[in-house]
Formats: sequence, C-alpha cells, structure tokens
Amino acid sequence: MQLRNSNLDKLASETFDVLIIGGGINGASAAAALAGKGVKVALIDRGDFAGSTSMHSSNLVWGGIKYMESYDFSLVRKLCKSRNHLMRSYPSTVQEIRFLTTVTRGFRHHPRFLWAGTWLYWLIGNAATRLPKFLSPSALRERESIIDTSEAAGGFEYSDAYLHDNDARFTFNFVRTALDYGAAAANYVESLGAQRQDGTWVTRARNVIDGDTFEIRAQVIVNAAGPWVDEHNAMTRQQTQHQHVYSKGIHLIVPKLTSSQRVLAFFADDGRLFFVIPMGERTCIGTTDTRMESPDVHVTDEDVAFVLDNINKRLKLAKPLDRDVIIASRCGVRPLAVKASAGSGRDFLQLSRKHVIDTNAADAHISIFGGKLTDCLNVGEEIVAEVKRFGVAVPYPDYRWYGEPPETVRQEFLHQARLMDLDAMTSPEASEPLTTRLWRRYGTHALDMLEEIREDPRQGELLIEGTEYIRCELHQAKRREMITRLEDFLRRRAKISLVVNNDQIRHSPGLREACEMLFGDQAQARYDEYFADPHDQTPEALSPVAAADNPARSESLKWWRDARSRPPPRPLESLRGSERQGICHGGSPYPSLYVRLWSLSVRQVVLEATAAQQDDHIQWRDNREPP
Ligand SMILES: Cc1cc2nc3c(=O)[nH]c(=O)nc-3n(C[C@H](O)[C@H](O)[C@H](O)COP(=O)(O)OP(=O)(O)OC[C@H]3O[C@@H](n4cnc5c(N)ncnc54)[C@H](O)[C@@H]3O)c2cc1C
Repeated sequence: MQLRNSNLDKLASETFDVLIIGGGINGASAAAALAGKGVKVALIDRGDFAGSTSMHSSNLVWGGIKYMESYDFSLVRKLCKSRNHLMRSYPSTVQEIRFLTTVTRGFRHHPRFLWAGTWLYWLIGNAATRLPKFLSPSALRERESIIDTSEAAGGFEYSDAYLHDNDARFTFNFVRTALDYGAAAANYVESLGAQRQDGTWVTRARNVIDGDTFEIRAQVIVNAAGPWVDEHNAMTRQQTQHQHVYSKGIHLIVPKLTSSQRVLAFFADDGRLFFVIPMGERTCIGTTDTRMESPDVHVTDEDVAFVLDNINKRLKLAKPLDRDVIIASRCGVRPLAVKASAGSGRDFLQLSRKHVIDTNAADAHISIFGGKLTDCLNVGEEIVAEVKRFGVAVPYPDYRWYGEPPETVRQEFLHQARLMDLDAMTSPEASEPLTTRLWRRYGTHALDMLEEIREDPRQGELLIEGTEYIRCELHQAKRREMITRLEDFLRRRAKISLVVNNDQIRHSPGLREACEMLFGDQAQARYDEYFADPHDQTPEALSPVAAADNPARSESLKWWRDARSRPPPRPLESLRGSERQGICHGGSPYPSLYVRLWSLSVRQVVLEATAAQQDDHIQWRDNREPP
C-alpha cells in the first residue's frame, strides 16, 4: 500500500499540468505518453486500473479485417499500422498469431473469394505477417481436428496479433510506465466531477477504500472514463460534439479445446466473425455484439446460449460444451463514438470503432471517445499534441515513451539467466521457460529477480498451484503494481482467476502466503473480501463493497450466482426473429469488400501499400533510435 499511499499524498497536495480520469487503455497510454515527455500528470480510476472494458476484450491486436465490411479501408490501414507498430515495439508481448477460418457450404461467397480478400488485407498491412493460405476441407481437418468440416466448403489461414499476457496486464504496464516517469497515479479514486476555478480545474475526488474526499488541481482534464465519458462530462458540465453508444460483448472461458496456438474463426449464425481463442491452459470463446442503452451490463442466458450454440455447431467435440464447463465469463461494452447531432437511425454495426478526441480549448478539457487497445500508441501521441495546443509545456516532445527495453539489456538478462541455469527451475506444468516469462512480464526489472533467486533459491519456486507465479514475482508485485485488493492481483496483474478454478485458488496454501506478502496485516481481510460470497462459483467474485464500486462488473457476476438455478436456455433457433436480432446483427464483410475491391484500381492499392511499407520502415528506424 506504500506506493498507493504516497501517490494519494501527491494527488492531494500538488498541482498538475494534466489530470486523467480513467485508467483503462486510453487513460493509461495517455498518462504514459504525457509523463514520458515530461508533462506533470495525475491519473485516477474509481476501480482498479483496467478494471472495466480494458479487461473484457478479445485480447487481439488486429488490423480490423472485419471493418472491411464497412468499406473503412482507411481504418483498416490505420489499425494495421498500429498493429505492426505494437508488434515491433513489444515483440515478446504482442505476437503474431494465425487465424484459421472455416467457411460453410451455402455461405454467400466461395472460400477462394474470401481468401483473395485476406491477400488485400495482408497488402494493406504492409505484408508484415506470414502469407495467407487457402485450405480445402481436408487441409482444415488436418490442421485442426476439432473443426466440424462436414458442412465446410473450405477455409483460409491469415495472421493478426494477440496479447500474450492479456489486456489488463498490457494496460497496467502503461500505468507502470507513467509511474516510472513520475506521474502520480492511484486506483480506487473516483472523480465526483470538476469545476473550473480561475483557470484551474478543481476535481472532487473520493478515496473509494476509506471514503475520504479531497481535491485534485490541474490545468487540463482528460476524460478517459471509457463508457462513462458522457456521464463524467455531464458532472463537469462539458458539452461535446460526440457521444457514446454501447455494444455489449461477452466471452466465455472454458477448458482448453485444442493445444494449437491458433485462433479458430467462424462466421456465426448472424454472419459476424466468431472466435475460439487460445488462453494458456484455457480457451476463450466469443463474442457477441448487442446494442445497449447503458454501459452497465451483465451476461444474460441468451448471451451464453448464443456463444455455446454457435461453438457447438462448428466444432466436433466428444461432448458438446454446456454451462457446467464454463470457468469464467468476461462482459463489457464497446464504447462507440458517434456525432452527438446524428439521428438514431444509424446502422449500429456499421458504426466505426475509431477513437475520437473531442476538445474544448476554452476550458482546457479533452474527452476520448471510442477506440481499441490496438490503437493505444496513437491515442497517447494525440493526447500529447492536444495538451500542447492548450499551452502546456512538453519538455521532451520526441521522447519514445513505449516499447520493450533495448536489446542490450535483454541480452544481459538472457546471459545472466543462462549462467545460473534459470530455466532448469521452470515448473514441469509451466507453459514456457522461466526466462521467457520473466523477461516478457518484467523487462529490466527481471534482472532484480535473478538477484533475488541467486540470494535465495526459494524465490524461484512456484507459489500458487496451477499457476506459473513464482515467489519473487510477488515481491515485485507488492512494490511496483499497486495491488490494493486481492482481485487486482488474481484477475488483472495475473490472470489466475480466469484460468484456475475458484476452489483450487481458495485452498491453495500458496495463496495465503501470497496474501501475507501483498497485504501484511491486512492479509486475512483481503482474503475474506475476495471470497466473501461462499456460493459464488465464479472466480470473478467481488465482495459487496467492491461490487458497489464497480456496478458493471458486479452485474456480470450476478449472472453466475443465478445461473445454476435457471432452466436451460432456449436454443437460438427457437428465439423469435426480433429476439435473435436483439442478440446480434450483421452480415458477411465480404460482399461489400469485393464490390469495393473492384472499384479500387489495383494500381492504387499497390502504390498505397508500397508507399506505406516505406513509411513503416522509416518509422521503424526512428523508433529504434534513442530519444
Ligand atoms: C467484447 C469486447 C471485445 C473487444 N476486443 C478487442 C480486441 O480484441 N482488440 C482491441 O484492440 N480492442 C477490443 N475491444 C475494445 C477495447 O477493449 C476498448 O475499446 C477499450 O478497452 C476501451 O478502453 P477505455 O480506456 O476507453 O475504457 P475502460 O477500459 O472502460 O476505462 C475507463 C475507466 O474509467 C474509469 N472511470 C469511469 N468513471 C470514473 C470516474 N468518475 N472517476 C474515476 N474513474 C472513472 C472506469 O473505472 C474505467 O476503468 C473490445 C471491447 C469489447 C467490449
């Protein structure tokens, strides 16, 4: 708690250039960019960092192949460039992954036609990944025996990227970067609204843990409250050109369905892409796309039925998946930016997922609408540019605030690890060697861990059964990761509660030790808080207090408590047309893609891709230069 307490003191006593409200991916990357470039920044979140939308994504860093549906080639181009940039900047975290897509007979287009589309996608993405491949039904079967190919007309393989350690950890790393550059950041601090007084924003803040209120002073406010941006703007009397509409998406975590490290992609009953995503010893399936009126959402029976029904239709499993195998759920809303003046007759699925930065120069107020994890580096840079326009000094404008440590540091780490034979200490159940894991998660600080293990080999031992966490990681977590509640550790800094059964976590002797290391004399209280509801079968459990602090998440958990007492869901076919529409809408991306493809001249595409490739190379060189 020392890290949090000292940051709380700073928040209450200093005056900042910028206060950022919301520690999801948009707020975290903005904080890292501003702090890295020398701006005095504060960051608060009313829950944990990445405790909302940014922990419910599909963990994909992608060029947005599906946005070809809305002819939005410029968005695809932008996202492909962002994906490539992230892959280059975080080679051990953001990694290429193959997508194996099955197309059933009777689908509007032949798989060869769709495969041609993946070539365009590959070109738009500067050919930065492995080549797409066409696959016959037997080649599909050969690659992945669990796919039901009885109705398959064929398929194709293409590449995008994914986040190895999950979205929440990825997001937290930007908060950590901001702290490294001197930002003042604290979780569980809620903004109750702000007022402009003599050219300074005065924000009333509440420490959610003890209820204390205090004021935070800053020249500029960045509202990065994700789905709650509009709510916060209303509290602060800000009028904006944009506002949010919400699209709910759920994922279910089930036992590992296949050991291949591929994403299996299908077109669901509603025509949208639907995924089976590897997640260590588990598999993540989903997602849905349901328009909502409010950002506070929960998983419904219909959502679960839709996901299970679609997966069972497309895979040939020994036993179809049912509710009993679900280990955890994830549920959030995609905040989609729309013009406030636009009517309500928009086609919901055609709405762009682009982020929009809305500024009020007179009040020095910025709102970030929409966005994707994939686009986080651009969000950071754009916020710095806006803040600079308001007259805030940016002492190090060219500083490169993101990316893994330099190759020389990695080589030094690898050498030291080799000399002490670190990988021989890897637990037999681990999915990767310790060297790989420690470098990816801790970068430069992994060197400190080697020292701890050299001093005391027990520090290299596995701490919580069924996970890969070793003892010295907990020291690091306590010191540097602002873990305030046990859930912050189990669900977000680590993904333990997503992949390990709740009972196993509860009875792990290592968890007791972990609590003591993290919380000292508060260990029992934090443990009890996490396991407060004895009937809760989901590891996504919240104590009543935490639930009150995070209504969106607690809502999604309610479903778990009720699910077992409910009758089985109706099959999707039995839903009325309007109900089915309510679950999801959409169509294949490809018909429109091809109309558009032919309307573009081939020459233009090639020229654009070549020029883009040159751009990327130039950027790559620049990025590797020291700031
Ligand atoms: C189902 C689903 C799948 C997705 N898949 C992908 C994907 O694969 N790849 C991808 O790139 N993107 C994906 N996205 C999109 C991406 O997850 C979101 O766009 C992104 O996480 C939004 O981040 P954010 O920072 O805007 O919001 P959030 O992560 O919600 O952060 C906002 C924060 O503000 C805080 N807050 C709100 N009000 C206050 C207040 N008054 N005081 C203090 N704090 C406050 C909240 O607690 C919250 O933590 C997906 C989204 C969903 C829902």
